[in-house]
Amino acid sequence: MRILVTGGAGFIGSNFVYHVLNEHDDDQVVTLDALTYAGSRDNLDGVLDDPRHTFVEGDICDRKLVNELIEDVDAVVNFAAESHVDRSIAGAEPFVSTNVRGTQTLLDAANDANLDRFLQISTDEVYGQILDGKFSEDDRLDPRNPYAATKAGADLLAKSYRTTHDLPVVITRTCNNYGPRQHPEKLIPKFIRNAAAGETLPVYGDGSNVREWIYVEDNCRALDIVLREGEIGEIYNIGSHAEKTNLEVTEAILDMVGVDNEQIEFVDDRAGHDQRYALKTEKIEALGWEPKYTFEEGLERTVEYNLG
Ligand code: NAD
Repeated sequence: MRILVTGGAGFIGSNFVYHVLNEHDDDQVVTLDALTYAGSRDNLDGVLDDPRHTFVEGDICDRKLVNELIEDVDAVVNFAAESHVDRSIAGAEPFVSTNVRGTQTLLDAANDANLDRFLQISTDEVYGQILDGKFSEDDRLDPRNPYAATKAGADLLAKSYRTTHDLPVVITRTCNNYGPRQHPEKLIPKFIRNAAAGETLPVYGDGSNVREWIYVEDNCRALDIVLREGEIGEIYNIGSHAEKTNLEVTEAILDMVGVDNEQIEFVDDRAGHDQRYALKTEKIEALGWEPKYTFEEGLERTVEYNLG
């Protein structure tokens, strides 16, 4: 398979590029990434010389470039996004531009090409919060922060291109990822580094917000299965069922790094902070997937990566 991976110099995208090239000898990957503050060529240093991999620096909003790249592939996997909720609260413009307009540009280019698959990487945040129970794929979208709203826009656009243009779209909605190469602005790598450096770990509110955490390799395996075996037009939740409050995550990090809880600092809550996300995962499990890593195993590897 020849795959165009957008956002492949970021956290999940780079892990996915390694996964594909390690698992599928005959595959070829083109990575398209604008190298924003969140992306780095270094994230791909293990495959930059691989003849099966090509790196292109560029923007998913650049229709001419996207047209050229899509012409030569069988599938698109769209990871490219502005991904940090706090930044979207400070300013939503780049989120609308990349997440919505960029996705629309890719979809239009895909529509003019002859693709087998367009995999849109969405998120559990598009559902909004759920206090009890878990979201299934046909639940209503109710995003509650600008990041999630733009991801919901992209998700619905992709879905609409399936309906109106018969584009071979598949959508995944994954819970919170953690693991190697995640940008240090995100909670787990930031807290690991702060803990080791003797700095405070700023926990929002009372730390009771619950997230479901998946080790990035488990997510990449699931995405790869959906890319190859998922049914066109379908949406797949990808979740680990490893639910943790932010305080539990913080304490697990402090414990693993070997420092005491005095470094925790409770700070003003994030505006519109969703209380809990949780996903039903029967559909992805029916494709033969289950997570391999427990939260503790994944966290150990992540601590090791960050403190190297
Ligand atoms: P990330 O911020 O680490 O990486 C995003 C990448 O996209 C970066 O390399 C950046 O340079 C690139 N990019 C940004 N704007 C671009 C543009 N206009 N054109 C081309 N490239 C551009 O993000 P991540 O955490 O790896 O997330 C990847 C995808 O997965 C996103 O779509 C995100 O919404 C989704 N997702 C993430 C999580 C998570 O927990 N991290 C969970 C569910 C879904």
